[in-house]
Amino acid sequence: MAETIDWHARAKALRIDGRCVIDGERRAALSGETFDCLSPIDGRSLGAVARGREADVDAAVRAARAAFDDGRWADKAPAQRKRVLQKFADKILAAKDELALLETLDMGKPIQYALSVDVPSTARCIQWYAEAVDKVYDEIAPTPRSGLALITREPMGVIGAIVPWNYPMIMAAWKLGPALAAGNSVVLKPSEKSPLTALRLAELAVEAGLPPGVFNVVPGYGQEAGEALALHMQVDAIGFTGSTRTGRRMYEYAGRSNLKRVYNELGGKSAFVVFDDFADVERAAKTVAGSMFFNQGESCNAPSRVFVHERIAEAFVAIVAAEAPAYAPADPLDAKTVMGALVDDTQLKTVMGYIDAGASEGARIAAGGKRALSETGGYYVEPTVFDGVANTMKIAREEIFGPVMSVIRFSDEAEAVKMANDSSYGLQASVWSDNINRAHRVARRLRAGTVHVNQYDEDDITVPFGGYKQSGNGRDKSLHAFDKYTELKTTWIRID
Ligand code: NAD
Repeated sequence: MAETIDWHARAKALRIDGRCVIDGERRAALSGETFDCLSPIDGRSLGAVARGREADVDAAVRAARAAFDDGRWADKAPAQRKRVLQKFADKILAAKDELALLETLDMGKPIQYALSVDVPSTARCIQWYAEAVDKVYDEIAPTPRSGLALITREPMGVIGAIVPWNYPMIMAAWKLGPALAAGNSVVLKPSEKSPLTALRLAELAVEAGLPPGVFNVVPGYGQEAGEALALHMQVDAIGFTGSTRTGRRMYEYAGRSNLKRVYNELGGKSAFVVFDDFADVERAAKTVAGSMFFNQGESCNAPSRVFVHERIAEAFVAIVAAEAPAYAPADPLDAKTVMGALVDDTQLKTVMGYIDAGASEGARIAAGGKRALSETGGYYVEPTVFDGVANTMKIAREEIFGPVMSVIRFSDEAEAVKMANDSSYGLQASVWSDNINRAHRVARRLRAGTVHVNQYDEDDITVPFGGYKQSGNGRDKSLHAFDKYTELKTTWIRID
């Protein structure tokens, strides 16, 4: 249990191995270069991490290609792949304390959530795809009797996975689970801000019996290792999660290289719409505070645009503002902490810049608004609530990716739907109403990959996750994720 462990002592004793994992073994970057892995908790260095560049990515892709082409993994029966991946999931759970500590030190989230959310969700994802893969059937088409047409799914080949820092392990698992279960080889490029757990995951996979070369990790910067991976001619698909800005580049890289498939899971500015016919205003307000401030507000689906009917807005804002201090940031290694540090100095400056922009555009700060705990050397911001926001303001248009919520008032349903949809993003949305007709009607009209009704927290590996519009094109999770990492093949057989 998180409370009984002295996390500071464990952190002190930790030794980081920041080398790449290529072809089943640890390797320094070919250039010998490293970069400093800094902890956002106090700004201190956790150790040196290999600065992967084009040559390292090339070595990893070649290893992945060789592994795919000789069938050491792809040709195994689904039930055999299942057994290896189940062992991999077991090893993740067995290493839960170490992985949780690495995640917290590396990106600043509270240890209790790294332990209770990130590690189990990662293991569950790998386990779920392992369990699924020997239960998925192919198809036979209803053709004339002169022929037989088999419609089968085949692994695609080498998958490049490029992931962000907000849920480093979970985001990696959402790619690894379906890609590996389907028989592909993977080269994973974690964020330079959070490379540590990815490297350990690759080691655990090898220990679990995943053949060398099937899962490789090259840490490094986006414009170096990331770009080299996305441009590589031997990579068949890119599973990308990150900002919309970088997602655009993925298409450019594909166009400039081999037209590899690009699956983008991008940013969000999710709308949370509360109607005045929803009786339990307190539950709605407490839910939005919990969802917005979880993970320091660094969640792609954070409900950062909160539309509230003008008749209940005053009461709603009062509850949210009163709730906010309960999420005050504190030491992420303390087992009771609910909000940790922002990932780095850059993110801190970005978030503070948005807070300044909100204030100068005329929104009212109802809670928070300041940097916190600067004496630690880490990057903490108070949970912040803006009231009186207009949907045209910068804080309502752009993804902040920090603990900042904007409350926008509306007067009727049509206006609420129009404003909620007036965004370049469409990842998630939520509607709160006790009127079943309105709830269904509005849920249908909201242009988002997931719409929640009278809740925001439900989440499960069985349901797809992804966005409309500039929130992306792919879907992670569920059986639908297999579509991204498999090719659909038709085999016609003549029957005389
Ligand atoms: P980012 O786009 O800066 O970086 C994401 C990854 O891309 C990192 O590994 C980075 O090194 C790499 N990268 C950066 N520039 C690159 C380039 N030019 N070429 C190749 N690779 C490059 O995003 P971030 O700041 O790490 O993550 C935050 C973003 O991720 C937010 O927008 C958030 O909404 C989004 N996100 C989306 C989902 C989802 O499922 N839709 C989930 C989590 C996070």
